[in-house]
Amino acid sequence: MKAKELIELEQRVLLNTYARPDFVIERGEGTYLYDTEGRAYLDFVAGIAVCAFGHADPRSQAVLAEQAERLWHCSNLYHSQPQVKLARFLVEHTFADKVFFCNSGTEAIEAAIKFARKWGRAEHGEHCCEIISMKRSFHGRTYGALSATGQQHLQQGFEPMLPGFRFAEFNDSASVAALIDERTCAVIVEPVQGEGGIYPATEEFLQSLRRLCDEHRLLLIFDEIQCGFGRTGTFCAHESYGVTPDILTAAKPIAAGLPLGAVLLTDAVAAAIKPGDHGSTFGGGPLATAVALDVLERIAQPSLLQEVREKGEYFRDRLLEIKKECAAVVDVRSRGLMLALEVTLDPKELIGACAREGLLICKTGSQAVRFLPPLNVTVPQIDEAIEKLRRALHNMGAFCD
Ligand SMILES: *Cc1c(COP(=O)(O)O)cnc(C)c1O
Repeated sequence: MKAKELIELEQRVLLNTYARPDFVIERGEGTYLYDTEGRAYLDFVAGIAVCAFGHADPRSQAVLAEQAERLWHCSNLYHSQPQVKLARFLVEHTFADKVFFCNSGTEAIEAAIKFARKWGRAEHGEHCCEIISMKRSFHGRTYGALSATGQQHLQQGFEPMLPGFRFAEFNDSASVAALIDERTCAVIVEPVQGEGGIYPATEEFLQSLRRLCDEHRLLLIFDEIQCGFGRTGTFCAHESYGVTPDILTAAKPIAAGLPLGAVLLTDAVAAAIKPGDHGSTFGGGPLATAVALDVLERIAQPSLLQEVREKGEYFRDRLLEIKKECAAVVDVRSRGLMLALEVTLDPKELIGACAREGLLICKTGSQAVRFLPPLNVTVPQIDEAIEKLRRALHNMGAFCD
């Protein structure tokens, strides 16, 4: 089917929840995607930080094929090997003592909210069920996760939200302290705000949150769904802050594109949860968890993490050069291979202009574009992206030479 025909069909039969560009992706290989007309795109979206090793990654293909021959699904009614091995790996490589598996980021947040409330009631009593979240945060699209999200425009039209969420200023621990009372059971924060505009937390902020939570006996929840697992150059994003959470939510890159989410927790939180409290039909299935173990073993390699930090710095320096030369670029924010360019142009138009040059990037916040290349992106590919971005800015009449 031709691209035009397929897009017309899509408009007839698919619910219109995404504003998509006018090409149809047919296949991917490494850091490139190809459309049905044979055009190549350098993919610096990577499935929104999902495809950690790019497209059609041969190792994931082999692990998937092998697991597909053995066992696809048997439900969480039974013991099976891949999810236990993945949980062991996560426990050995993080602060966590226990792991719960689900299918997506949003579901990991829903589980984290339930666990935090159950713990709060056991620890402090019936009244203790409120969670402090941050303005500009993003935690997902279902009611619990959406209620925890600090962006009103995403909630509008879908009220009432779930009660029990209050919002503080990101990177301002005094504003968090001011909201704590006897009903508070947890504080949730993204170490690097992803959808909100790529805003890294300061060390002072996360360390103060840890101190506040310890003082008031609250749980600290890190949402590392976007920033976790190698993206910022450490295995977990919080490692470079010298603080650990009580609960961590993970998803995006964990299984290289197969749906999988995880909640990591300490034994102290796990003690509040008993059989029957939570569950999932598909969560932690053999295909996704087998692939995830191989993906995370590779991400945890110190040499890969070192490379992410180095390439992140190189990329940021090249974006700063553009900022110097181009008045339409007003800020560069980044941590590892999570980068954003704040622009005075319409970000959607810049994204379109980049796609026409064969570079895929996506929006973040209200006035920024975001770069989330695969973790194994190469320096020449970063140079190619910079070249394409320059041409796109030039084509838009934004001075850049
Ligand atoms: C993407 C994202 C989510 C939601 O994950 P889904 O898999 O889309 O449900 C939650 N939190 C953060 C920080 C995210 O980036």
